[in-house]
Amino acid sequence: MIQSQYDFSMPGRVVFGWGRTKELPELIRPLGHRVHIFCGSRTILNTPEFSGLLDLLKDAGLELAEVELQTGEPTVQDVDRLAESKFRAGVSAEKGDVFLGIGGGSAIDLAKAVSAMVPNWELAEKNGPQSAPTVRYFLEGVGIGLKLEKDPIPTVFMPTTAGSGAEATKNAVIASHDPPFKKSLRDVRLFARAVLIDPQWTVRNSPEVTACSGMDALTQLFESFLSRKAAPIPQALAFQGLSLGFHALETAFRDPENREAREKMAHAAFLSGLCLANSGLGLAHGIAPALGMHAQVPHGKACALLLSHALRINADVCRERLLMLAAALFPNVFFSNEDSAVEKLIYEVNVLTNSLQIPRRLSEIGVRRDQLEAIAADSKGNSMNGNPKMLKESDVLQILEEIF
Ligand SMILES: [Zn+2]
Repeated sequence: MIQSQYDFSMPGRVVFGWGRTKELPELIRPLGHRVHIFCGSRTILNTPEFSGLLDLLKDAGLELAEVELQTGEPTVQDVDRLAESKFRAGVSAEKGDVFLGIGGGSAIDLAKAVSAMVPNWELAEKNGPQSAPTVRYFLEGVGIGLKLEKDPIPTVFMPTTAGSGAEATKNAVIASHDPPFKKSLRDVRLFARAVLIDPQWTVRNSPEVTACSGMDALTQLFESFLSRKAAPIPQALAFQGLSLGFHALETAFRDPENREAREKMAHAAFLSGLCLANSGLGLAHGIAPALGMHAQVPHGKACALLLSHALRINADVCRERLLMLAAALFPNVFFSNEDSAVEKLIYEVNVLTNSLQIPRRLSEIGVRRDQLEAIAADSKGNSMNGNPKMLKESDVLQILEEIF
């Protein structure tokens, strides 16, 4: 049954297509003239494609500010350092500054968080209880409840991986090592003003990046489709994303230059971001941040490992939805009964996980047994609340022990 009320929000403009990077200046020009680039990898910085991108912007008469390199998931310190320096330099939307995030989720989330903090830095200075202003005041769960007052600097995002879907979301995930946490800065104004998805950029991704980021996208699609908090539009998008992405991921992994597979995965990843921005998720996304906090497991790798386990654990309470997916993903298979359809779906997720050479046990990705209790205790929040099956902390600990 359709919900009688729902909201749906997304980036202001979306341009998708192979080779469409050349249209970037036209997307930026209405927003400003000085471009601050946040880039997610040294490898990208040194490619001819990146030099070509800089030339493209310069030739279009746009001014380039310094390029910020973000190699890991952004921390509170990363955001504070850049927000303060850009605030002191007088960066503002009124003066024509625009932020361009190019990379995976880390670079895009950093651009998002800094775009919000520069105009609100004074607010943090005035209202914070500490002498030093920080993005932490605004973070869910660990902040002091401060809300953004001024609009963020306009942003344009260009993903170079097909995974996190960060280009489509209104939250930036910010980490801290001491004390350990991973929390979101969330505001509907954090949606990009424009997103340019050119799947050609993903051809350079290593097989491991293709596998982990692709599995993150599939996990987001599965979990939002099955979530207790599933909303109608994301559910429709997740259905299409899975129908296209499920079979394309292994092809992209084995044949990196396969254009059709790269296009399907880039599209599926973008849809997965729209889903997570507008719907609930589940168990894998409930546990993944805690694995990052306590054992430094990158988000994509954590989700990749957890997906098949999450499906198995929830199978008995979301049977009808799994049947719909089984019918869509394997249209030519005749299922003699409902059990065999659900089993086939979970079996194929396991086959895919194995063929992508993704570790299956927590002990294989650097997690220690003595960390499991803390991981279970921190596997709470929005995502876990959307999981089809209600799980207590002791249930999560048991699951972690089973998959250790
Ligand atoms: Zn994710």
